Amino acid sequence: MKVGLVYDPIYLKHDTGEHVENAGRLTAIINGLDETGLRQQLTPVKPRPASLEEISLVHPKQHISHIQDVARKGGGWLDADTVMSPDSYEVALYAAGGAIVAMEAVMEGKAKSAFALVRPPGHHATPRRAMGFCLFNNIAIAAEQALARYKLEHILIIDFDVHHGNGTQEIFYERPEVMYVSTHEYPFYPGSGSVEETGRGTARGTTVNIPLPAGCGDSEYIQVFEQIIVPAARRFKPQLILVSAGYDAHWADEIALMQVSVSGFRGMVKIIQGLADELCDSRLVFCLEGGYNLSALAASVKATLDVLLGNAATDNPLGQPAHGFRAPKIDSLLRAIKEVHALP
Ligand SMILES: [Zn+2]
Repeated sequence: MKVGLVYDPIYLKHDTGEHVENAGRLTAIINGLDETGLRQQLTPVKPRPASLEEISLVHPKQHISHIQDVARKGGGWLDADTVMSPDSYEVALYAAGGAIVAMEAVMEGKAKSAFALVRPPGHHATPRRAMGFCLFNNIAIAAEQALARYKLEHILIIDFDVHHGNGTQEIFYERPEVMYVSTHEYPFYPGSGSVEETGRGTARGTTVNIPLPAGCGDSEYIQVFEQIIVPAARRFKPQLILVSAGYDAHWADEIALMQVSVSGFRGMVKIIQGLADELCDSRLVFCLEGGYNLSALAASVKATLDVLLGNAATDNPLGQPAHGFRAPKIDSLLRAIKEVHALP
């Protein structure tokens, strides 16, 4: 069964200069897929720009025109972290559109699963604010389209980027039809994502935060997936799983302090794929978020696609962290999360 890949050189035109979130990230991933021949196993899915109507299901018109205005005036800094070039507005439309076409390919059975290799990333973008390298919230826009177009009632978003997806959480905080589950380093940027943030009103319980102390590695993440994410997903019964796939929890990534290896990401993706097979006819869409060490990012995306394609695992590129970092104990944290969410 086919695995879709959304990619287009347009994504390189969001020119951020020396910023850590730069076009070299996608080039490294694509070169890796080409060199290993993996790209030929994937089904290309052509992105298109999201329409204003599609974006406005998540972002008010003022936010959209603000981003458009900044681009028209030549770009510039939106906050201390987030920069735009003249083409960034158009590229951001394509990033949201890339997430949408990946979702469509899966919903229409053209691919079993798909990966949208897009930038700028999206999970920090709130309805009214660009932040954390993000302009529009790509995965939320795709989720809104899936709800509206295919009349879905339950969508699960799993976010394993090392940062909390504050934007995605905010967008769906009062929406029981979308469950948002995030693993993230905590306390850390952007500050949100405590265990107690669980959703509001009828959506109480459909935000599941797993705030992890610095230093967690493969075994802690797999424990979290097995003990929290799997039972939460089974209870929610999603009809589609979307993944905010950020690879900045890799040990070699200097933006954060986690210790995950490529094998760890492979293990998480296997668990997610197992959930999709079990719960929603394998319908699974990945959307790129962070990941700033180019070798770790390229190897981790490749490992993700290998799992989706059913290819045998090869090795653990870059290996395990060289230094003997002692992983923190997370048993009591997991107990607290299970209690808050009444998980077995
Ligand atoms: Zn991140």
